Amino acid sequence: MSLAKHNTAAAKCDVAGCDNDAERSFNIKQVEKTDLSLKSGDLRNVHLCKEHYKEFKKQTKTDRELDAIYD
Ligand SMILES: [Zn+2]
Repeated sequence: MSLAKHNTAAAKCDVAGCDNDAERSFNIKQVEKTDLSLKSGDLRNVHLCKEHYKEFKKQTKTDRELDAIYD
């Protein structure tokens, strides 16, 4: 018995300890700038759930703000 292939189905969040369904994916280089720790460091694209996407956005925004402050 073989299952139909659903390559787009149910990608999971790649953050360590998180088992939520992924909402979006990002290039690893963007995610490396944050302190989110991933299940695997060997990814090209990192899937993030809604919660971790928020965290990601917060941290990338904070980076820019810090740059401005310390400039
Ligand atoms: Zn997550």
